[in-house]
Amino acid sequence: MNIILLGRPGAGKGTQCKAIAERYHIPQISTGDILRASVREKTYLGLKAQEYMDKGALVPDELVVEIVVERLNKADCRNGFIFDGFPRNMGQAEVLHKTLKKMGKKIDHVLYFDVEPKEIVKRLSGRRVCRKCGETYHIIYNMPTNIGICDKCGGDLYQREDDKEETIVARLDVYEEYTAPLIDCYRGKGLLRTINGVGGVDQVKKQIMDILDKDEIGSKVST
Ligand code: ADP
Ligand code: ADP
Ligand code: ZN
Repeated sequence: MNIILLGRPGAGKGTQCKAIAERYHIPQISTGDILRASVREKTYLGLKAQEYMDKGALVPDELVVEIVVERLNKADCRNGFIFDGFPRNMGQAEVLHKTLKKMGKKIDHVLYFDVEPKEIVKRLSGRRVCRKCGETYHIIYNMPTNIGICDKCGGDLYQREDDKEETIVARLDVYEEYTAPLIDCYRGKGLLRTINGVGGVDQVKKQIMDILDKDEIGSKVST
């Protein structure tokens, strides 16, 4: 099962991606997480990417594509993968298509998380992330048991630099200009499934599992 999660920043992709990865035993490939780790470790990639990320701009394709191709070649992607935050523009989508074709693979589903910009601002400005394990929380919608501390690993929670209000607006603009055209592109290929991203985390999860469970049963029957 090869899946892409598409939607505005803050639509809930990362939150649901973890649940999908656990349920179907396929790896989550989040380019944002990989880039943030590189920034923390001050690698060459991290040093180059940081200025773009802090502004809310997209990191240049050549940097992102390299990470993705390398990641796809790892053994754990053999039975599937879920992209969260990639592709982010038409150029990346084309490179992905060509890379998968060479590997004898294809995308099976593109799940588009539909959430309006007004809701997005509330979500991103209240988002808190665990410094240690990357788990995501929200100060109102998805609170940790103890304020400021990760339920999973006890790490401390912080607010991402790009989740400050000024940068959120810039990221939403970037999304409309570069990423939103992918919706029609994947609809045209018959791959797009729209998920209503508004509602509780469990309600959103159920819509996704209903789609993917059916697919999994289908593939078992056909083999
Ligand atoms: P994305 O990966 O699409 O940027 P996240 O999964 O990080 O989005 O979610 C953004 C914020 O919204 C986080 O603080 C998260 O806890 C919260 N969130 C996720 N799903 C929901 C939901 N269904 N309802 C309310 N808040 C949510
Ligand atoms: P969110 O889903 O909340 O927007 P991400 O973690 O996916 O956040 O991305 C954070 C930042 O990392 C983006 O604003 C961008 O600078 C960079 N980034 C992540 N994925 C990509 C990508 N596929 N192409 C270019 N830049 C990316
Ligand atoms: Zn943690």
